[in-house]
Amino acid sequence: MEASPLPALEELREEIRTHRGCGFEPCESATNMVPGEGSPTAEVMLVGEAPGASEDKQGRPFVGRAGKLLEELLSEAGLERSDVYITNVVKARPPGNRDPRAAEVAHCLPWLEAELGLIQPRLVVPLGRHALAHFSDDAKITQSHGQLIYERGRALFPMYHPAAALRGKDVRKLAFEDARTLGDALAEMRSGVERS
Ligand code: URA
Repeated sequence: MEASPLPALEELREEIRTHRGCGFEPCESATNMVPGEGSPTAEVMLVGEAPGASEDKQGRPFVGRAGKLLEELLSEAGLERSDVYITNVVKARPPGNRDPRAAEVAHCLPWLEAELGLIQPRLVVPLGRHALAHFSDDAKITQSHGQLIYERGRALFPMYHPAAALRGKDVRKLAFEDARTLGDALAEMRSGVERS
């Protein structure tokens, strides 16, 4: 029997939580580092850009307004928060909610790679263009949202970032349509497994 991924994942989350002293501004100024959280055997991993103010306060990803909307989108896809794994490319809030710098992203990437390696999700959902840029050199969120695409051997289902959906009605409508398509794509993937 294969060893459960739980202890290694818990170790990784603890490493992120207790990380200090690297000199990078987000890690140094954060109230809390924000590791990913969710099912260690999730078939779907959602990846955002970086924690915001609520996440920084609580040390958990997507717990603010964007997180509430993300949960509604998951429900539209037939998923609950506890079914999936939710994380960010950058694990600490950049001060003032500025965009993370390239060096800060590079500093945090090994943690995201470790999360991907331990959970081995069947499908990664990059949320917004910054997260998508990590998984694809050329896919554009405006063109690839709501579609199953394959990049570097990985199945991706890019979606608009829930914060963008909070800012605009049109994006919100598209995000809900995409969530329904995600539910359909997952049902299809599962039935493929049952057939094989
Ligand atoms: N936005 C993100 O990209 N990640 C969070 O955890 C919260 C808001």
